Amino acid sequence: MSAETATPSSTDRPETLAVHAPQPEIRGSRPLGVPLHQGHVFGFDSADALAEAFESPDAFLYSRMGNPTVRSLELAVARLEGGADALSYASGMGAINSVLFGLLSTGGHVVAQRCLYGGTYAVLTDLAARWGVEVSHVSGTDPDEVRAALRPETRLLYLETIANPTTRVSDLPALIAAAHEAGVPSVVDNTFASPLLCRPIEYGADVVVHSATKYLAGHADVLGGVAVFKDAELHRRIRHHAVEQGAVTDPFAAWLTLRGLQTLPLRIERQSASAAELAGRLAAHPAVAAVRHPALAGHPDREVAARLLPRGGGGVVSMDLAGGREAGRAFVEAVRLASLSVSLGDVRTLVMHPASTSHRQLDERALATAGIAPGTVRLSVGIEHVEDLWEDLEQALAKAL
Ligand SMILES: *Cc1c(COP(=O)(O)O)cnc(C)c1O
Repeated sequence: MSAETATPSSTDRPETLAVHAPQPEIRGSRPLGVPLHQGHVFGFDSADALAEAFESPDAFLYSRMGNPTVRSLELAVARLEGGADALSYASGMGAINSVLFGLLSTGGHVVAQRCLYGGTYAVLTDLAARWGVEVSHVSGTDPDEVRAALRPETRLLYLETIANPTTRVSDLPALIAAAHEAGVPSVVDNTFASPLLCRPIEYGADVVVHSATKYLAGHADVLGGVAVFKDAELHRRIRHHAVEQGAVTDPFAAWLTLRGLQTLPLRIERQSASAAELAGRLAAHPAVAAVRHPALAGHPDREVAARLLPRGGGGVVSMDLAGGREAGRAFVEAVRLASLSVSLGDVRTLVMHPASTSHRQLDERALATAGIAPGTVRLSVGIEHVEDLWEDLEQALAKAL
């Protein structure tokens, strides 16, 4: 027995022995599954070793500054995204806030896609109102629009690979290049695509953020976020803020996410294929006025999607029901297999009717600006059998005519 920081001797009393369980060193073998290091604090043999540990993401002293299970997740996602390094957070919003706070200060300016995840839109609005950061919104499809929006004080361009719920696909290489011409770094939320479908760093992105809650973890049992950095220097800088902010991942949450990650390629493949199949069938259904999925013919960004998402358009489909608001509401209440739920990227199929739920405060004009019609329904396709899903959608559509 070794690998203990405090070494009890057999003459120590029960009160002492009770708190110092021996930890066996594993020799000649290793666990194949990543071990769960739930402990938040680590002991050292020398003051120098502890002092050195403060400087390295790969030394462990206190879990807010780094934990072996959490570090395993960071390294795994960094590799999947093709980045130099990554940071893991308690949620996707934790990751997004950390990156925004790390890159921005008062007087800074952000160019951001107009159609953004609601939480991200809210943080940017809050930064603008309370911290003197200015935000310009662009469509996210036109590099000239980005060029025109850039200012000397612009600190970042913020994009999403696949926008919610419009499924519009950003032309990442062109938009990122437009920002780089002015020396402005780009942050891309790649939650909807996952690194299996798109790796924004290959198109020049400086930071990729994820709500790991969605596809990376995939099983509706954990919240998490990850930020991946193209270069090690930016990782080091943001890590410094992240350690101060403390929105770090609990080791068990990291462990669950790592567990989910192992089947990400299989899940994404099935979800993308099923979503494309269902989108095609929905487009031919009389109760459906319009369907959006990046792999569907007639998608406004079909050419960009074919270039950026050659392996599939992802698991999210949105459609406008011909019967409008009432039909949308009736549909999400009539599904049997799919669950009415705000999240996405789960192994189970989820449905949402934004006009009656997440976006209920918006009037029709504000809805239209967000790319949402009164009858828009979003589907996050799971890994169930596609024919069971189709039967469910068909019977629910019959009640939404
Ligand atoms: C869910 C989501 C987020 C926020 O992630 P949380 O884990 O809920 O904090 C950010 N971006 C996108 C695209 C999301 O879908």
